[in-house]
Amino acid sequence: MRLAEQRVPQIKQLRILLAIFGFLIYPATEEVHAQSLKVRVIVTSLSPARVLVESEGPLADTWSFRNIYAGIPRLGYRVEGFKVAAASGETVSVRNLAPGEFRSSKEVSTFGYEIQLEERSRLTELSHVSWINQERGFLMLADLLPRLGRESLVPSPVTIEFKLPPGWTVASALLPDKNQQYTVANIDSTVFYIGRELRETRVRVDSMDLALVTSGDWAFADRDALKIAGKIVKEHSKLTRHRLYGRSVVLLAPFNGVVGPERWTADTRGASVVLLLGRNASARALLAKLGVVLAHELFHLWVPNRLALDGDYDWFFEGFTLYQALLTCLRLNLIKFDDYLDTMARVYDSYRSQPDHDRLSLIEASERRWTATPSFVYDKGMLVAFIHDLMLRHLTRNGTSGADIYPQLFRTGATVPGNANEVIMSILNRPPGMNQFFERYVQNPGDIALDATLAPYGFRVETKDFRTRILINKELTVEQGRLLRSLGYQG
Ligand SMILES: [Zn+2]
Repeated sequence: MRLAEQRVPQIKQLRILLAIFGFLIYPATEEVHAQSLKVRVIVTSLSPARVLVESEGPLADTWSFRNIYAGIPRLGYRVEGFKVAAASGETVSVRNLAPGEFRSSKEVSTFGYEIQLEERSRLTELSHVSWINQERGFLMLADLLPRLGRESLVPSPVTIEFKLPPGWTVASALLPDKNQQYTVANIDSTVFYIGRELRETRVRVDSMDLALVTSGDWAFADRDALKIAGKIVKEHSKLTRHRLYGRSVVLLAPFNGVVGPERWTADTRGASVVLLLGRNASARALLAKLGVVLAHELFHLWVPNRLALDGDYDWFFEGFTLYQALLTCLRLNLIKFDDYLDTMARVYDSYRSQPDHDRLSLIEASERRWTATPSFVYDKGMLVAFIHDLMLRHLTRNGTSGADIYPQLFRTGATVPGNANEVIMSILNRPPGMNQFFERYVQNPGDIALDATLAPYGFRVETKDFRTRILINKELTVEQGRLLRSLGYQG
């Protein structure tokens, strides 16, 4: 055993040397190309839902599948019958090291496996991981394909083709070539919608080709849903002053069974919004819900998906983005001013009900979003965005607002990689009178007392039976009246 342990570093050294020589001999593109993968995805059965994946890639002896995503565990257990084939035809054995982790006795380039994709029983999981039912399903390459080799390298580019049950088709943000093959640069942001009778409607919004793909019967016409999505994209484009080019898609699916639109789940990756919604309601109620959910999800096409920033800043791209989405809904008449105030009051109650709400900073909460209190980054983030928006409007006599963060963010963050929290800190603290905003509300823990905070702006906060209401004072100063009207108040 000791001998084996000692030999590992030597082998590693040899690999590094070979890699250096290899790099010197071959052009740099060969190195990148070495991780390219050819994949065939075959839906072999709908009940139980099973997919066979056949793949050919670079020589490797280790394949690792994602075992957890968005707090959903045990994903690696779905992978079964992992097999490899050596070019020489000799038998190569494979060991299952851990859930979703496989190692062969020899490096090979061809491998295949089956993966169980039963529909998830928890509705909230349906937008986050791959599944298939009798009518439709989502194939998310992040949990469908493995990382390669002992360094867990992400394969790229991946050429992928599908063999689906009769009558089924596939749709995604990517378009296939003439051989119906897709070339995927980033597996983590690529989702394929498969199903019987998928329908696609398209519209051009500014520079974006926006498509709505859906299936099943809805009380509304596809065109009407697309129209709302288009209006929202236009607003976000204006707000960020950053145009998105190319194709983006909303992949909309209904929940099975009798479920109303109060139940929904969404995940926006790359240029795809995956949205599942209960369909048991009138067209009006469904479209209203769709608008509110899409106002937030479509914003993710910009933030964080088009920012080159890194670090844990969920407090911003969830909390601040939710707040701006709420204002977008107000501008588009998707909600009323009272709904805006009621939403902030509900968020405040949810924030106050969390045991650690005054002891956890937004930065800490973002670092452990899925393990600590998942709703904290949304609730406190949204409250801080609300306070930030009011402070800026007040300090600049409505010359600027919280929305002005976004064009500044896109001027730097879209192209230059950097630490998101540092970049956002410099933007938030920059205006005169705001110089400790980030430290006070984002970096350090501390309670938010909404009644005292909102009083200077003409709001009154009342809490009765643990339920908060945010009201507007009858008597307002001229300045308070102006600020509130800039938000959409019509009193
Ligand atoms: Zn979100």
